[in-house]
Amino acid sequence: MTTVAVRPGRVEVHGVSKSYGGVEVLHDVDLVVEPGTVTVVLGPSGSGKSTLLRCLNHLEKVDRGFVALDGELVGYRRRGDTLHELKEKELLRQRTRFGFVFQSFNLFPHLTALENVVEAPVSAQGRPRAQVEAEARVLLDRVGLADRAGAYPRQLSGGQQQRVAIARALAMRPAVLLFDEPTSALDPELVGEVLGVIEDLARDGTTMVVVTHEIGFARKAADQVVFMDAGRVVESGPPDQVLDAPRHDRTRAFLARVL
Ligand code: ADP
Ligand code: MG
Repeated sequence: MTTVAVRPGRVEVHGVSKSYGGVEVLHDVDLVVEPGTVTVVLGPSGSGKSTLLRCLNHLEKVDRGFVALDGELVGYRRRGDTLHELKEKELLRQRTRFGFVFQSFNLFPHLTALENVVEAPVSAQGRPRAQVEAEARVLLDRVGLADRAGAYPRQLSGGQQQRVAIARALAMRPAVLLFDEPTSALDPELVGEVLGVIEDLARDGTTMVVVTHEIGFARKAADQVVFMDAGRVVESGPPDQVLDAPRHDRTRAFLARVL
């Protein structure tokens, strides 16, 4: 298989808190994602998983604490003792180091699979179309869709659309891929093909943070499992520890419900 190099990134989340309208939904979250590893985030609905992902790439501003990627603050520049918010352009450049794959694939309906993958690297990164297109074909091959490059989203199954969305995220050459419940919108028989692609990327050392309820996937692919409840990281560790010997009642209760 041909591979496209993805530069791995180290993510550090330190003491992050976040409120909406006076209600704190993330409390003092700490998390480290080592380059080339997979972190699976588990937790009940409303526990703050999506908010945490959005704080990683500064789609949401944190109220306290910080996020750093490879030692560089996300969203801010330090000058002396003060932090200055990055200007829009700098922020966009930094944000492209995080690839984001959502539950709803969000493909452009009027563009083919190939065009969906090619769009952002050309328009946002200003890379030459021919080079990007060649790379996009490699990426579509990698997600098992080499033969569907010319298909429009409506001609593809949900699982195929999500695989295009993964190729599209990779085309930006991110340091870290973030997935927010990538299989939750799929019919059960299509879940496996998408998880298979993510497992494949994991084997290649792609740094990923995956919010999912798929415990089997966590067991197979995760280096680190993080369990969140009510805006806090309740516990984290290797999958066999968190999934098979959880230390906290809340983790046990959650696992009993989803397993
Ligand atoms: P999860 O992804 O674990 O289901 P979320 O991060 O989506 O949890 O939500 C955590 C909490 O924050 C929930 O109580 C949710 O209602 C609230 N929340 C999330 N986004 C917003 C927002 N944009 N405005 C107000 N409240 C929000
Ligand atoms: Mg969510």
